[in-house]
Amino acid sequence: MSHSSSRRDFLAAGLALPAAGLNTLPARPLAGSSAPAGIPLRYRTIGKTGLKVTEMGFGCMITSDPSVIEKAADLGINLFDTARVYGGGNNERMVGAALKSRRKNLVLASKSRSATRQAALEDLETSLKELQTDYLDIWYLHNKTKASDVSDELMEAQRMARQQGKIRFAGISTHIGHEEVFSAAIKARHFDVILTSYHFAMDPGVDQLIRNAKNAGIGIVAMKVMAGGFRKSPYYPSDDNTRSRLSKEGAMLAALKWVLRNPNVDTAIPSIIDMDQLDEDLKAMAAPFTPADDKLLAAHLDYIRPRYCRMCDRCGGACPQGLPVADMLRFLMYAEGYGQFSLGREHFKELPAAIQQVRCADCSGCAVQCPNGVQVAQRLIRAQELFA
Ligand code: SF4
Ligand code: SF4
Repeated sequence: MSHSSSRRDFLAAGLALPAAGLNTLPARPLAGSSAPAGIPLRYRTIGKTGLKVTEMGFGCMITSDPSVIEKAADLGINLFDTARVYGGGNNERMVGAALKSRRKNLVLASKSRSATRQAALEDLETSLKELQTDYLDIWYLHNKTKASDVSDELMEAQRMARQQGKIRFAGISTHIGHEEVFSAAIKARHFDVILTSYHFAMDPGVDQLIRNAKNAGIGIVAMKVMAGGFRKSPYYPSDDNTRSRLSKEGAMLAALKWVLRNPNVDTAIPSIIDMDQLDEDLKAMAAPFTPADDKLLAAHLDYIRPRYCRMCDRCGGACPQGLPVADMLRFLMYAEGYGQFSLGREHFKELPAAIQQVRCADCSGCAVQCPNGVQVAQRLIRAQELFA
């Protein structure tokens, strides 16, 4: 089956998913909030946690304006997601200041990507202080890519934190290596929530992984739901009219609706940076995924195919110079897709010095062939030009 037909089937399958199981409620402002008339807030419960959250949560990773976060909370969005490392370590402080007075009405999630029990627990203490709260509703082991990352000592850190009342539920997040991480997480019988990248451009196999986790009683929170953003960014050529047109026609909203059409997804946390985006994303709770959305996403998929890495990791280890291709393309996405140059460069600068010094332009031919059509060498040359 060609990639194109796989994708077409996948999108079509999305249209056929049942709406049953969605916990659709009428507009219901939370205490102290004032959802305006006309915006239907819909809720789902995360796995077996009992946490009833809006179908659209708020990913704070690249938000720099706290008033957007405050506005979302005022409108009734009740799930906010951050991490110890976001914003160079400053994102939690901004989120904490924005949500302090509303804390008791909200579900607050943060993450540690530390690899040892002690370092993770130290991260948690810092997270609580920065977020001005005594507890997190969900604490994720962040950015795990293989089974061995799901370590006993990190799970022990979560158990200790829960016993001390510092977290309510244990989570794990993954961008790459979904199959291994999902399997290890299910086998561990420890996690309440998996935070996973999930979007219309991914390998359809991820749907089965999500189903497996749901069947094991694990809640699913979807991130990276826009398949790279591609909304507005100063790092695109100004003559990129296709991107502008697709964005204006609502490709981002269609992408979010596509995620929410899956009843096995409990909530999605798109990264939101401004009021326009907040307004647009809120609409995803008010309208179903339609054939028009399907058509728009098909066009969008054609546009992003050579640019967007789906992080399937099928090319893992293929570069003879050892470049972590999927990671580097993710850093480029932060700059180009989200307009977050600093975030992309920050991650690039954490790579080993020898990797940072590699120049794909010096290669006579690229050994990395992407089955999804990403122009790997060209994209990595762009990343090296931007970040090195
Ligand atoms: S470059 Fe292609 S093969 Fe490699 S991780 Fe990205 S989508 Fe997968
Ligand atoms: S061009 Fe391809 S093979 Fe060469 S360094 Fe870059 S990713 Fe590796």
